[in-house]
Amino acid sequence: MKLLVPVKRVIDYNVKPRVKADGSGVDLANVKMSMNPFDEIALEEAIRLKEKGAASEIVAVSIGPAKAQETLRTALAMGADRAILVVTDQEVEPLAVAKILRKIADEEQPGMIILGKQAIDDDSNQTGQMLAALLGWSQGTFASKVEIDGGSVDVTREVDGGLETVRLKLPAIVTTDLRLNEPRYATLPNIMKAKSKPLVQKTPEELGVDIAPRLATVRVREPSKREAGIKLASVDELIDRLKTLGVVG
Ligand code: AMP
Repeated sequence: MKLLVPVKRVIDYNVKPRVKADGSGVDLANVKMSMNPFDEIALEEAIRLKEKGAASEIVAVSIGPAKAQETLRTALAMGADRAILVVTDQEVEPLAVAKILRKIADEEQPGMIILGKQAIDDDSNQTGQMLAALLGWSQGTFASKVEIDGGSVDVTREVDGGLETVRLKLPAIVTTDLRLNEPRYATLPNIMKAKSKPLVQKTPEELGVDIAPRLATVRVREPSKREAGIKLASVDELIDRLKTLGVVG
């Protein structure tokens, strides 16, 4: 079974984002970029499935600028077999990403597509669900455990009340939650080997997908500054304080 793993190049999770002076978006100039953390988890899961013999090939896909090649090389160094970059300098919204991934899925015919549950830059949490709808496949979102059993996959999901396990018929879409696994680091020999693994480039136009944005960003602003906390000596003092602030009557 072939596995498709979409990986997005995003602002590194350790970087504190800065908003552009004109409020039009986040300033990405000279900012460290990395693979979206949930996608590292998706890739790690795909590699483990291949190591267990449940999958035969892993194809990593990214949609983004030419620099997203670096993200794909990281994916290849971690263990993907080959990579596809759909190049565009435009911002691509989840629906357009899902449409592109559908085309790639039509070409590649994977048994499962494992995505991150969300990209940490836009926090949309939409692409996997939209892709499942476009392909007409079952979906198991927020996976904390993935087990393949013949022609189906059991996905344990983290839901409010605890854990829920759903059985999906393959081909299917899985999106990963934080506790699914701990991704491996790429070793130096594997980073070297990754340089000669196949990476092909395509464009949205070649795939026949219109990526024109459907949304306009009105304004982006920094979160308001938090005030420093204070220490109170007793519960009575806390209640007095809350009354003064009008929080309790
Ligand atoms: P989102 O719906 O934007 O929160 O993204 C959810 C998941 O979709 C991500 O974790 C990735 O697996 C995938 N994804 C979103 N955008 C891209 C992209 N530009 N290239 C590759 N994968 C993407």
